[in-house]
Amino acid sequence: MAGEPQADCLFCKIVSGEVPATVVRETDTTVAFRDINPQAPTHILVIPKVHHPDAAALAAAEPQVTADVLREAGAVAADEKLVETGYRVVFNTGSGAGQTVFHAHAHVLGGRGLNWPPG
Ligand code: IMP
Repeated sequence: MAGEPQADCLFCKIVSGEVPATVVRETDTTVAFRDINPQAPTHILVIPKVHHPDAAALAAAEPQVTADVLREAGAVAADEKLVETGYRVVFNTGSGAGQTVFHAHAHVLGGRGLNWPPG
């Protein structure tokens, strides 16, 4: 069923605690943890606890949780002192855009100059 934990999903396992992660923030609906392969000095993933394969599916099914993810992305940026220098929030969507984990997640990247357009 949509939103239910998936047995083969890495991020559902992080939500349940089955797979360890360096958690920096947690709410009733979200978890934020450090990316295992950081692409910037600060690289944190914010995920919903419910399982949806990407940000569009999450937004269609659970608009309030989507807002929670975006609010937490901002809170992570504030905690990491990224607000003044700027930061990027990215939802890779689809394998052609680099998505490798099909549980919706926001990347929060900062602490270095970020080029535009992204690669
Ligand atoms: P995507 O490529 O946009 O789907 O992002 C998935 C991200 O998850 C990548 O940046 C990976 O480095 C990260 N990642 C994969 N496995 C783990 C893990 O076990 N802990 C933390 N981050 C992970």
